[in-house]
Amino acid sequence: MKVTVFGIGYVGLVQGAVLAEIGHDVVCVDVDEQKVRNLEQGIIPIYEPGLEALVKENYSAGRLKFTIDSASAVKHGEVQFIAVGTPPDEDGSADLQYVLAVAETIANNIENHCIIINKSTVPVGTADKVKDRVASVLFQRGRTDLSFDVASNPEFLKEGSAVSDCMRPDRIIVGTEQASTEEVIRDLYAPFNRNHEKIIVMDVRSAELTKYAANCMLATKISFMNEISSLAEMLGADIEMVRKGIGSDPRIGYHFIYAGSGYGGSCFPKDVKALIKTSEQLDFDAILLKSVESRNNDQKSVIFRKIMNHYDGDIAGKTFALWGLSFKPNTDDMREAPSRVLMEALWKHGANVRAFDPEAMEETQRIYGHRKDFSLCGTKEEALKDSDSLIIITEWQSFKAPDFEQVKDQLKAPVVFDGRNLFDPKVMLKKGFTYVSIGR
Ligand code: NAD
Repeated sequence: MKVTVFGIGYVGLVQGAVLAEIGHDVVCVDVDEQKVRNLEQGIIPIYEPGLEALVKENYSAGRLKFTIDSASAVKHGEVQFIAVGTPPDEDGSADLQYVLAVAETIANNIENHCIIINKSTVPVGTADKVKDRVASVLFQRGRTDLSFDVASNPEFLKEGSAVSDCMRPDRIIVGTEQASTEEVIRDLYAPFNRNHEKIIVMDVRSAELTKYAANCMLATKISFMNEISSLAEMLGADIEMVRKGIGSDPRIGYHFIYAGSGYGGSCFPKDVKALIKTSEQLDFDAILLKSVESRNNDQKSVIFRKIMNHYDGDIAGKTFALWGLSFKPNTDDMREAPSRVLMEALWKHGANVRAFDPEAMEETQRIYGHRKDFSLCGTKEEALKDSDSLIIITEWQSFKAPDFEQVKDQLKAPVVFDGRNLFDPKVMLKKGFTYVSIGR
């Protein structure tokens, strides 16, 4: 099938590459010319396991193309995906300007019946707004003869495993009330639907809300565990034991119940915020969601408070080795990363940071490269040199079994602040470390 994807970000690029891989003829379009030129030269804008090979292979095979020419891109596709950003507006609601701009572009260029599939995370009612925008442009063009439909197909990929999530989705949510649109989307995703039925068809509004409900549920689990971790500390319990204890109940499960330094990234924070905003617009007090958000905002400072506590509030002139920068492992995404809140607090109090991350160095350089109180180190060991203590903020695999003797040798004092509970406190004590973690 001929497919057009608007937006070459985490969602659009992965979606485009995966659809090309299963044989569709895909054109990805973006307004960022540099990104498009880079992709044509094999330079992939983001880090995602398996993505580079997939993009290069399908680009060479001619099934995946990149362009900034939106007019010809629209003419290419039987289906038009919208996968552009929906960042928070100043008031926390989702900013729909990019989605609606794409709707206009599509409307200005279609010549045949077209199915617009929205993959961006958007508030309930956005498909109606897209429909209105397209209809009004078609009216201005004098082309009210052209038919179109707008479906919702929210994306559930996780950064860090985006390719495999798209190749092997748990479910494919399709919001449409038109049988012909459902049929086209079923065709599009048929290779993913062979093993068992993964497509769940529903009305558009329910599909739009399903995406927010999923992210808010996951954020709730994290904030819940972080709240319990503070209680565990005060009560002399160990949150890791509590996690195992409750995770064994299949109604709760082991996923997403780690206490830590809070959730970040481009989705949970903005989606929780956006659903709170939607509730406000409906005069409904989303008390649970508001608590989830404020617990998370506070949790991002927990490790910093522990550091201040350890140094009696005086960290001026101290140097901290920091392992991990991205908001979670296996991505280079720094959006809303807890590391940023931590580093900014350390700098504000006169401390220096020596940081290492397996993938997010370039992105961090772009954001903080100008700072004199900050160095990016080539390895995690180099970050330790001349540092007063070590802080771990992202749970990359390569941080989980360090050479502790070397860590001790390199640091000025054997002190580890662990924002992800990677190690056993008893073992760390035995190894001679002062070990500060979360909820234990
Ligand atoms: P992103 O910021 O990585 O990419 C968006 C891309 O859209 C950018 O390259 C931008 O230049 C491009 N763009 C903006 N306006 C455009 C236009 N008019 N025409 C063409 N391209 C345009 O965003 P993302 O992380 O891929 O997220 C996209 C959407 O998917 C968001 O709504 C997000 O909430 C949702 N989502 C993201 C994830 C994730 O893990 N990142 C997962 C599920 C859903």
